[in-house]
Amino acid sequence: YRELRLILGDQLNPKHSWFKTRDESTLYLIAELRQETDYVKHHVQKVCAFFAAMQNFAHALQQAGHEVLYLTLDDTQAYPDLPTLLQALLTRFKCQAFAYQQPDEYRVAEQLLDFATILKKRANPVRVERYDSEHFLLPFDDIPRYFSANKHHTMEYFYRAMRRRYGILMAEGKPVGGQWNFDKENRQALRKDDLAAIPTPLCFANDVEEILARLARHQISTFGKSQSKLLWPTNKKQALQLLSHFCQTCLPFFGQFQDAMSCQTEHSWSLYHCRLSFALNSKMFHPLDVITSAIDAYQASPERISLPQIEGFIRQILGWREFVRGIYWCNMPKYESLNSLHATRPLPDYFWHGETQMQCMQQAIKQSLRFGYAHHIQRLMVTGNFCLLTGIAPDDVDAWYLGIYVDALQWVELPNTRGMSQFADGGIIATKPYVASGNYLNKMSDYCQHCHYNVKNKVGPDACPFNSLYWHFLQRHEALFSNNPRMTILYRQWYRQDEATRHAILTQAEQYLLTLNAL
Ligand code: FAD
Repeated sequence: YRELRLILGDQLNPKHSWFKTRDESTLYLIAELRQETDYVKHHVQKVCAFFAAMQNFAHALQQAGHEVLYLTLDDTQAYPDLPTLLQALLTRFKCQAFAYQQPDEYRVAEQLLDFATILKKRANPVRVERYDSEHFLLPFDDIPRYFSANKHHTMEYFYRAMRRRYGILMAEGKPVGGQWNFDKENRQALRKDDLAAIPTPLCFANDVEEILARLARHQISTFGKSQSKLLWPTNKKQALQLLSHFCQTCLPFFGQFQDAMSCQTEHSWSLYHCRLSFALNSKMFHPLDVITSAIDAYQASPERISLPQIEGFIRQILGWREFVRGIYWCNMPKYESLNSLHATRPLPDYFWHGETQMQCMQQAIKQSLRFGYAHHIQRLMVTGNFCLLTGIAPDDVDAWYLGIYVDALQWVELPNTRGMSQFADGGIIATKPYVASGNYLNKMSDYCQHCHYNVKNKVGPDACPFNSLYWHFLQRHEALFSNNPRMTILYRQWYRQDEATRHAILTQAEQYLLTLNAL
């Protein structure tokens, strides 16, 4: 072969310009690698989903007439890392050129950059070419135009720029409906009457027994519930089915119940969320495909899908998803070690098994272990909020989030976890920490009705831990946040309490912090 082209496990983009022409002298490589199964401990369904999707993609490329080499863990076990494997293949196939797509993770991007430098410096240099992954709406090389390091950026302004750039939900240069944001109309809690209407999630049944056997054979350390019939989409056809199911069934209520949480029905884990993050992050389809389908559905039946619903959805894909990627790239590698609140506590054990008496935590963790999935507000306001209030070390928090979710890749996980959720970046993403007491959880969910703890109480043996821990967090970081204009009301509320009440609340929180593992 003349050229070896690497396709990483999250670069399964069938529309990439690479595949527009067939060339017998080009060999495409897709490989299962220990460096990827081992850089963090992953949920077993996440590894299965990636390997199955990689295999399906290799098969689709072969069907389309491309030359593809798919290597399983069995084939790559002799190579300690990706560069060693690439080197061996370049020699074996006598390639004169090596090409790769810009990786989305800093770790891999650096590794390939170093490898490319070595190849170019050799006595018989190999020509190296880096391509854009052609997936994001903001091309990689445009990131510095919008983002700069160590600086707070506001998602809303970036999002509006992207709406204008792509003319999405725009009419004559103005946002459709006359406003950019419909958050006020959205974000409602589910009432009892709403529960019966929660849709049945569309789940697939992909046979991953061979992959599971391979993981066992190579003693890959994973966690979470193993499923021989994987529910996640592992090819483009399934991804499109899930998208269509979302547009038909969930989009009409997406924004409205975006922040709602429930444990009352067997479908509550998915609610009205699209669960397309794995298909998107592995690049099975383009974000514009998702946006276009959703807008088509809205335009076809505006009586079912209101503007706030579609806008709320577009904001996530065109806004948040692209935004966090920009933050990641302009702040790496420093970003992954930021710890502005000096949090040092280890992650409590129940993050790994879900056995805690806090109902909200139990639900969010057990569901994550069962499906490799939790929706945004569970990640942000339940587990994330808990880690922030209790001062868990961001390294521990990151490792958990990066491992447990099927959609977790560092470029999207890190800004969400370390930045948005843990405020460890000192405010690069968020203007204030996302902290909340039991009151918020009770308002947005039905968890508290089934909890061992009493959400109304701040002190006492059955007091909801989120209550005292919330005030303890504010008190502990008073110097940093009391002058934050978005938080002055909270501090005023705190200072209004008499000394004895404040003391009792702080003492209760101290007690909980000492016995975190027993909550
Ligand atoms: P929906 O709720 O249906 O949203 C639609 C789509 O919008 C998602 O598929 C996703 O592509 C995009 N989106 C929404 N919010 C965000 C966001 N904040 N950042 C980026 N994209 C967004 N998302 C990941 O893809 N991978 C992660 O590792 C990840 N880690 C997170 C960690 C924390 C602490 C938090 C608070 C959020 C994290 N998110 C992550 C963002 C978000 O929670 C998930 O994208 C979402 O829950 C995926 O489920 P869904 O596809 O049903 O999304």
